[in-house]
Amino acid sequence: MKKYNFSPGPAKLNKSVLELVDNNILEYKNEGYSILEISHRSDAFQNILNKTKDNLQKLLKIPSNYQILFLQGGATFHNTFVASNINKNKSTTNLVTGTWGTKTFEDFIKIRNSKQLLINSSQLKDFLNIPNQKELQNVDYVHITSNETIEGIQMRDFNCLNNDLIIDSSSDLGSYQFDWDNIAYLYAGAQKNLGIPGVTISVIRDDFIEKNENPTYLNIKKLTDKDSLLNTPPTFSIYVLKLMSDWMLNLGGVEFFEKQSIENSSNLYSLLSKYNDHVSIPVDEYSRSRMNVVFNFNNSDHEEMFFEESLKNNIIGIKGHRSVGGVRISLYNSVDKTEVQYLLEFMKSFFDKL
Ligand code: PMP
Repeated sequence: MKKYNFSPGPAKLNKSVLELVDNNILEYKNEGYSILEISHRSDAFQNILNKTKDNLQKLLKIPSNYQILFLQGGATFHNTFVASNINKNKSTTNLVTGTWGTKTFEDFIKIRNSKQLLINSSQLKDFLNIPNQKELQNVDYVHITSNETIEGIQMRDFNCLNNDLIIDSSSDLGSYQFDWDNIAYLYAGAQKNLGIPGVTISVIRDDFIEKNENPTYLNIKKLTDKDSLLNTPPTFSIYVLKLMSDWMLNLGGVEFFEKQSIENSSNLYSLLSKYNDHVSIPVDEYSRSRMNVVFNFNNSDHEEMFFEESLKNNIIGIKGHRSVGGVRISLYNSVDKTEVQYLLEFMKSFFDKL
């Protein structure tokens, strides 16, 4: 029975990608072994690694002065990894717009000095439109979370900040094009738009990579010098990332998915606005996420009914995060228009009955 999966991640994968995974688990390219058995030192895996990096470079238009690194430990490990590798003489501020940014800040200050700048969704527009924000003057690096997955708050225009940026883009990388002008370090777990858990993609500007005395897996220079092969990388997760990025390029690249997510999210937000007697959207219009659409029922009894009915209609993954409650609908790259249409029809008929 088909389920309509709007989960916040790990998330739905396109069926054609899953079919390729399925075939290659039994036997990789008729080679007599499974993709799960591949040695990370083999030519076959080196080809997968090179192709994945090539694909990401094309998809995200990554300039030549950046290196791509694949690590384990999720975005959570990056709170430690990045903080440990920022030059000790440089200053940092964490611009915090939600839960994940808060967690990053809490880990940063265990490792280095950093300031926290809290901005809520209704302040974000004004804040980003002030040139040379005084709180960020003379700050070397600003950490931001481009999409706060739990609260559904997104920032897509990075150029309005003048500082060098370190960006956690775990829940929106690959869903819109941006330019790299002031990005020093960008990272994302693959399990939302780009694949499955196990691999985190880092894109690092050359000047950020400095020698230091960190232990091996915290040492950015050692890891980049060995091109993700200093130790055993997450081979299978990287393989799925390769298949996902092949699929995305075949469909027309990030431009295609940007268009899709604009259409899907605006249809959903419009429906919610139309039914504002029953539901409310807590995020200010300017900073609403195209990836995670969050809303609350004005009457909490309706929320329970909504979850029950949605399950009966094979819709899964839409409960808000346990810390905030409510409803959260995630619209990552593998969620297509027909599925969103199905959800919209279900929601409309549910709201009409209230
Ligand atoms: N940052 C963001 C924006 C996230 O959405 C998540 C996971 N949902 C994390 C960090 C943590 O990622 P992980 O569980 O892979 O460590």
